[in-house]
Amino acid sequence: MAKLEIHRVPVLRDNYVWLAHEASSNLTAAVDPAVVDPVLAALDAQGWSLTHILNTYHHHDHTGGNLELKEKTGCTIVGSRSDRERIPGIDVELEDGDTYEFGNATAQVFDVSGHTLGHIAYWFEESDSLFCGDTIFAMGCGRVIEGAFDQMLGSLDRLKALPAATQIYCAHEYTQKNGQFALTVEPDNPDLIARMRDVDAKRAQDIATVPSLMEEEWKTNPFFRADSPHLQETIGLTGASLVEVFTETRKRKDGF
Ligand SMILES: [Zn+2]
Repeated sequence: MAKLEIHRVPVLRDNYVWLAHEASSNLTAAVDPAVVDPVLAALDAQGWSLTHILNTYHHHDHTGGNLELKEKTGCTIVGSRSDRERIPGIDVELEDGDTYEFGNATAQVFDVSGHTLGHIAYWFEESDSLFCGDTIFAMGCGRVIEGAFDQMLGSLDRLKALPAATQIYCAHEYTQKNGQFALTVEPDNPDLIARMRDVDAKRAQDIATVPSLMEEEWKTNPFFRADSPHLQETIGLTGASLVEVFTETRKRKDGF
């Protein structure tokens, strides 16, 4: 049982790489290292040495630093077995239902396919931390590229069942644009209106809005809210199935 210390590294235009440090074992993982130099600089500043890379999936803005970081540090690369051909340098292959022991911290591994096939998420229960790549974003979710809409909804529903206090460490700062979209499908949601006021104030000062809290997502993320009568009414699908509501909401977001 060990809690992680987590440090945010903003890279590229809007990506976040997360450094997760397990002090009792002196292990440090970079989650989805898009690039190399900013990650090494952040490790240096923290006084941490890279021992692991945890990949959620294969897109280049999540794995671009894999091989060079491995070459420079000898770190172990952990990722999804069903995505193994696409994860550069993978050493440890995980699948749905696995637990991964990161020193004295334990992650439960979920397959959350939808954005892509073989996308996984890591849930460190004792740290209330979820690393979910491009599956959930603050007030949003990943575009459904490789998977099916019902599959993506199933993946989101699974993550949504985690505790209210879960901190969601997603891979992008998309919050403000997501919230602007969310307001088009739930314009009268008071929690959403209040949250966007806060987000707008933070973004005006270039302050990060990630991680986000699960409890907040329940109240404001339209992709967690296919059962909301207000949302269903706004998009003209009152009483439709949750998959239909989710699909229509996701398609509207694609065109937003
Ligand atoms: Zn991404």
